[in-house]
Amino acid sequence: MTVVIVGAGLAGASAAEALRERGYDGEVVVFGVEEHLPYERPPLSKAVLLGDKEVDSAYVHDDAWWREHDVDIRPGVEVQSIDLAARRVVTSAGEQAYDWLVLATGSEPRHLRMADDAPTPVHYLRTVEDSLALKNALRAGNRVAIVGAGWIGLEVAAAARAAGAEVTVHETADLPLLAVLGPEVAQHFADLHRSHGVDLRLGSAVTADDLAEADLVVVGIGAAPRTVLAEAAGLEVDDGVLVDELLRTSDDHVLAIGDIASEQHPVLGRRVRVEHWDNAIGQGKAAAATIIGAAEPYDRVPYFFTDQYDLGMEYWGHVGPDGYDRVVTRGDFTGAFRAWWVRDDTVVAAMQANDWDASDEMRASVGQAPPSE
Ligand SMILES: Cc1cc2nc3c(=O)[nH]c(=O)nc-3n(C[C@H](O)[C@H](O)[C@H](O)COP(=O)(O)OP(=O)(O)OC[C@H]3O[C@@H](n4cnc5c(N)ncnc54)[C@H](O)[C@@H]3O)c2cc1C
Repeated sequence: MTVVIVGAGLAGASAAEALRERGYDGEVVVFGVEEHLPYERPPLSKAVLLGDKEVDSAYVHDDAWWREHDVDIRPGVEVQSIDLAARRVVTSAGEQAYDWLVLATGSEPRHLRMADDAPTPVHYLRTVEDSLALKNALRAGNRVAIVGAGWIGLEVAAAARAAGAEVTVHETADLPLLAVLGPEVAQHFADLHRSHGVDLRLGSAVTADDLAEADLVVVGIGAAPRTVLAEAAGLEVDDGVLVDELLRTSDDHVLAIGDIASEQHPVLGRRVRVEHWDNAIGQGKAAAATIIGAAEPYDRVPYFFTDQYDLGMEYWGHVGPDGYDRVVTRGDFTGAFRAWWVRDDTVVAAMQANDWDASDEMRASVGQAPPSE
């Protein structure tokens, strides 16, 4: 039997590793466009960008590990099309038949045309090469314009300040991270960045003049799932590749995992597509279980972490600004802090900042009654 995995990112690597862990002894072939073995992206906007860690630390496993586990990783090979009826993919290096196909093609940064057309050098951040290029460009006194106050924009802002750059962040919403956290907690992120000298310009769109005034521009306005292959093959796609709780697509022999998968989530009771590290690992494992016939529904509550300046934070849940009726908080955001988003007297999301002993308790609080105010 042959399992073919399209995408040698974290989700694809996790699926391959889990197949071997679960005793699957057939062939595993992983195709990846990038000229790298699978690596984790979170350090690219944190430790690697700050110069605290080398790129090598981001690799999931070294070459020897993949060889010992008989996983055939093909870096630099693109899957160009899928023939669902023949169960075969066409790649830039030839054809490959499969019994199971796992799509793990991830996502790519959304482009801002105005920035691409501007004379100022523009950076996006997705790959090792992007991270190293940006790290080289961040210098003391440089004027850095960041477009988008999402997770990546804010992490880059922190790294740019650490490098001594003058940083301006442009965001159309009234607060950074507003759509994820809601105003109560988002305000703390605005205060954090302003206290570190970031010129945070909220509630207005960036202009061509803003970009022209900068020495370099970083665009962090979100990512789009790479669904082109799936769509061309005729799989059901709507924002992401539609999958059930076992990660099965509309074709019986094809699974989709990681950033591209729009899962009918058994606990949340609706479709969610999660662009996070933990989801890529967990769905990779669940896909392996589906392939070996263990059928373990992927029901983890979405989880995310970030590091900015001295703040380390974890968040469990999937809510958005309209999904809760109040927020209960404890502590001080610049010290140890906890927050619970509550709807109908049930915790729908929870976070801790700089309070690492609280992780298990906060994760477990989702779905429970909130702490008293
Ligand atoms: C800079 C950065 C920082 C992040 N920080 C955090 C964080 O702090 N916390 C967190 O939870 N999440 C974070 N994330 C998100 C997290 O990294 C992603 O959710 C995760 O990488 C998704 O894994 P994936 O395998 O689905 O996709 P990807 O990591 O995007 O991997 C997909 C791979 O598939 C390849 N591919 C695509 N199409 C083809 C094809 N046709 N043929 C062959 N190969 C193909 C791509 O080249 C890519 O290498 C961050 C992301 C970035 C970019």
